[in-house]
Amino acid sequence: MTDARLTLADVFAARRRLDGRIARTALVPSPSLAERVGVPVHLKLEQRQITGSFKLRGATNALLALSEDARARGVVAASTGNHGRALAHAARKAGVRCVVCMSRLVPGNKVEGIRRLGAEIRIVGRSQDDAQKEVDRLVAEESLTMLPPFDHPDIIAGQGTLGLELVEDCPELETVLVPLSGGGLIAGVALAVKTAKPDARVVGISMARGAAMHASLMAGRPVAVEELPTLADSLGGGIGLGNRWTFRMVRELVDEIVLLDEAEIAAAVRHAYWQEQEVVEGAAAVGIGALLAGKVRPHGPAVAVLSGRNIDMSLHQRLIAGEDVQLDATAG
Ligand SMILES: *Cc1c(COP(=O)(O)O)cnc(C)c1O
Repeated sequence: MTDARLTLADVFAARRRLDGRIARTALVPSPSLAERVGVPVHLKLEQRQITGSFKLRGATNALLALSEDARARGVVAASTGNHGRALAHAARKAGVRCVVCMSRLVPGNKVEGIRRLGAEIRIVGRSQDDAQKEVDRLVAEESLTMLPPFDHPDIIAGQGTLGLELVEDCPELETVLVPLSGGGLIAGVALAVKTAKPDARVVGISMARGAAMHASLMAGRPVAVEELPTLADSLGGGIGLGNRWTFRMVRELVDEIVLLDEAEIAAAVRHAYWQEQEVVEGAAAVGIGALLAGKVRPHGPAVAVLSGRNIDMSLHQRLIAGEDVQLDATAG
């Protein structure tokens, strides 16, 4: 653990770095959800961010905060998901070398997606651990900088810029619903929102299958959980047993964590499509899901953050058609 703390000044510094490099996404009212829960509900359409998720905010901020020297050597990550996409895009825009390491088991369309965004791809071994070993080797032998997906102050400050936008666009907000995995998004958003509005309630939502931050808070320290296939695949993975930033920030700043089952996540993806005309991935729909399931009952204006849209479109099609998708076969 570290004694250093992030402040609102770090989030404003991130906002200056991101100026002109990310989209300011819209906050729109949701009449259908307002009718269900009896208070105004707004959706933050961050799934329309460049690269399809909020991860571009943190990745761009962390990249631009590196020294000239580190930038000249390049960056590396093991993520094949939204962080990998974001880092590849941010690095190409900044003219920085970016290597993304992945195992042979990663599906070809994911590999191609990241390659098209301009990253060098290294395919090594048969597991995420093998890919991480290659990352460690590149850091040790080629002096590349590893930028992690959530547990890093510049990543958290970058994600916090989303929180600034929420407070500016909905000054009366009372409850914010934020998808939660490693906690970079919710830590940054909670820092920004709570500094401006100490009485606002920040609620994290995870899938019941393998909610690592929730289990860690219960245990009082970072713990590992079994990873299981879930429709909210971007919420999978651990928080890191050596977590330095997000565990403490979530413990201090987040009011409540709510868990959703797979049927609730599927219903939320469906609702986003049929009622809001929005295509979102499972992870991004959990705020809607928590409201629909009655697991969060806001007393005043609420905002649900739709965090990403990178879903396999054939899976999306099956979900919106109402199919009872068999997770073990599709989401693993
Ligand atoms: C990464 C991600 C999350 C979770 O963010 P954390 O900072 O790890 O909590 C939520 N939704 C989407 C779409 C993501 O890509």
